[in-house]
Amino acid sequence: MLHNFGSINLDHFYRVPHLVAPGETLTSRDYRVGLGGKGANQSLAMARAGGQVRHWGRLGRQDAWARDLLFEAGVDVSAITLVDEPGGHAIIQVDDRGENAILLFPGANHGFTQDDLDARLRDTAPGDWLLAQNECNALPHVLNATRDRGLNVAFNPAPMTADVAALPLEACRLLFVNRGEAEMLTGEPAGSEAEALLDALARRLPDTETVLTLGGDGAWYQHGQTRHFQPPLPVTAVDTTGAGDTFIGYYLAAVQAGESPVACLARAAAAAALGVQRHGAAESIPRAAEVERWLR
Ligand code: ATP
Repeated sequence: MLHNFGSINLDHFYRVPHLVAPGETLTSRDYRVGLGGKGANQSLAMARAGGQVRHWGRLGRQDAWARDLLFEAGVDVSAITLVDEPGGHAIIQVDDRGENAILLFPGANHGFTQDDLDARLRDTAPGDWLLAQNECNALPHVLNATRDRGLNVAFNPAPMTADVAALPLEACRLLFVNRGEAEMLTGEPAGSEAEALLDALARRLPDTETVLTLGGDGAWYQHGQTRHFQPPLPVTAVDTTGAGDTFIGYYLAAVQAGESPVACLARAAAAAALGVQRHGAAESIPRAAEVERWLR
């Protein structure tokens, strides 16, 4: 079982000709609301990939439909608590080039207590995976507890903040970072070559398996002296929101299925490349059968 300690947000999408500039008022051509949050997206992606995932979450009671949606997708929702608080939500602009800008209110995602989390931790078994992103509070508590419980930790420090550097990252067996996250984590200058980022990540976390995603430029896997490059799949991206989440969910489902790092990369890259050809975050995450068909 993989336990995903992750955010659940409602995503409010606006289609705009360009991302709003400071001081500008811009009229959106379209609006819709959907399930989001890096945590929920990664759980959904993992379930759609055929993986076994239990989501640990806090969700505003008025947004209970989001829990139903995860349940229908095959996510174990028994560790999602409905609370009488404003839920997490995001305001997402997507422009004509497929670029996005996101304003996030964490709401209930920042209301975890140590007791909440200890109860969930007691429900884990040694050898289980624990996945986390950086959208919930009490991360240090959970990461510190994973060692005693013999959990394999996968971490995606998104959205990246300065305090991530102080987390016990050595506890991670697997780290997923994009270019910006890798630069912030290592202190390498913006625009560094991927190889320089990988070198710096290996110095910082020598025992951790690292996956560096580079958007339309592909992805790298690194562990010790071993490196694999996954070339980008040639597609026309219309919306890259959630590409990283799709990639991570599919990668972890492949890990759970006992696949090699090279096979995990290939599966994850194919799913993400399918997703970026569609609009939206959660709704753009493909199902395993679609990925299989596309790879054939
Ligand atoms: P986001 O925060 O938007 O969810 P991210 O920054 O975490 O994404 P990216 O590195 O942008 O993650 O993308 C993850 C993976 O998705 C890439 O490594 C690649 O496999 C795939 N991907 C993203 N954009 C494209 C693209 N334009 N064409 C093909 N594949 C893509």
